[in-house]
Amino acid sequence: MRSQLKQLGLSYDWRREVATCHPEYYRWGQWLFLQLYKKGLCYKKHARVNWCPDCATVLANEQVVEGNCERCSATVEQKELDQWFFRITDYSQRLLDDLKLLSGWPDKVKIMQENWIGRSEGAELALRWKAQLMRLLFSPPGPIPSMA
Ligand SMILES: [Zn+2]
Repeated sequence: MRSQLKQLGLSYDWRREVATCHPEYYRWGQWLFLQLYKKGLCYKKHARVNWCPDCATVLANEQVVEGNCERCSATVEQKELDQWFFRITDYSQRLLDDLKLLSGWPDKVKIMQENWIGRSEGAELALRWKAQLMRLLFSPPGPIPSMA
């Protein structure tokens, strides 16, 4: 890619290049992962992911727009994969609290981060009605409406 950019005559300061495929870069990601692993802050489990068959990659929820890949518009599939997870839920309240300290971040990005962190306060009520299970979420927590 570098040679293609040079052929286009683009003028970059290549001393400032960051390439995630270079060992000098990804060694720090591997090092950080090992530190988290040693502390028990990451674990592997089988879970469902958003999968774009055209891009052949996993997509974050934010990259799925009305059931389609935001890049190529292909229909996103659900796929079961072994994945590594970080125990961020142990820190969700702190992440949410500190998100408020960030100045200059667009509200849209902060909302996306809040949704990604995924912590919410509320109550979940499961009801069975004519063999159908309904889950009702009340957020923030408050009185549950009466049902007749
Ligand atoms: Zn795609």
